[in-house]
Amino acid sequence: MLEQLDKQYVLNTYPRNYVNFKKGINATLYDENNKDYIDFTSGIGVVSVGHGNKEVADAIYEQVKNITHISNLYAIEPQAKLGEKIAKLSNMDVATFFANSGAEANEGAIKLARKYGETKFENKRYKVITLEHSFHGRTITTVKATGQSSFHSPSFAPYPDGFSFNPAIEDIYNSIDDETVAVMIELVQGEGGVQPFDKKEIQELAKFLKEQNILLIIDEVQTGIYRTGEFLATNLYEIEPDIITLAKGLGGGVPIGAVVTKHKDIFTPGDHGSTFGGNYLSTASANKVLDILEDYKNTGALDEAIIYFGNKLSEIYKKYPNIFTAQVGLGLMRGLRAKDGETLQEVIKKCFEEGVLVLKAGKNTMRLLPPLTITKDEINIGFERLDNALSKIK
Ligand SMILES: *Cc1c(COP(=O)(O)O)cnc(C)c1O
Repeated sequence: MLEQLDKQYVLNTYPRNYVNFKKGINATLYDENNKDYIDFTSGIGVVSVGHGNKEVADAIYEQVKNITHISNLYAIEPQAKLGEKIAKLSNMDVATFFANSGAEANEGAIKLARKYGETKFENKRYKVITLEHSFHGRTITTVKATGQSSFHSPSFAPYPDGFSFNPAIEDIYNSIDDETVAVMIELVQGEGGVQPFDKKEIQELAKFLKEQNILLIIDEVQTGIYRTGEFLATNLYEIEPDIITLAKGLGGGVPIGAVVTKHKDIFTPGDHGSTFGGNYLSTASANKVLDILEDYKNTGALDEAIIYFGNKLSEIYKKYPNIFTAQVGLGLMRGLRAKDGETLQEVIKKCFEEGVLVLKAGKNTMRLLPPLTITKDEINIGFERLDNALSKIK
């Protein structure tokens, strides 16, 4: 029924599983037959405080029964408060532009960088350097910024100029020229295979770029909002980028994106905008999400969940050397490299049948992004099911 409806009326852009989820409680989902699934995906890192979070639902309801949307032509109190909270939690002197998604946040970051490139140098600088295996979004520009040739389909050409990607951090230095305005990277490549970069290497790059007045843009759409154990991966790496982009986990499921920067005077009225960006609905939700997670971090509960989850993952990794070749990731952004893509497809399918949802990243990485509030019970059940699934792989 749902399958037929979906196939007839929704454009075919995703290879979909036909399951009809009806209800969620934290990291547990229930389908229409009341079969339960442990969710190690959190909607690709989005449902940071779990499904059906009552505090978030109440905060949204309290807000939208009064005002859902006004437009950015008027100041929006929960938006201003969210900007303040982001500055406080990131421990940086920053201001934020609010958008609706990760790609849109990255578009905003690129626009800001290009205007900086016009105002701060004698010749206009506009080039943005990215990295291989990166992922920055699905708009024409962010697809071009994405460092994976498979995304640059001729179907959508021509793409905007000014983007090139490098195989590794060390290659960035030599590809900078007098038109380069920014380097844009993730600190843990998410879609590319849950690959964290070396802290020293990142700190050296940040220092070098600062000396050259070239902007460092950190795409924290996936790593941000406590995913790696700190509010930002930037905090974990102890750097101060010029621009940070956020999205996935910020709204707890409500669409929101953010361009966070210490360059507060580059954009002036008219330079950038968004009808929906940062409206009452999304910022009321995000404020509550951050309150919950700040508390969760401060009480030590988040660190405990990370350790517990990590230990379970290591056990599984050691138990199946016939399937996995490496353990990757940080915090609650984790992965196991499968020996090949075919095996991984089989694993994901078996996991689904056993009632645990896992993701794919890159060609052969099983990616795990559970809700940050996942309980020990849910972790136990999820790994039991994962174990069952793996035991059936030949
Ligand atoms: C998901 C993701 C994006 C794109 O976000 P959307 O909300 O899908 O536009 C950009 N960058 C990174 C690192 C991501 O993980």
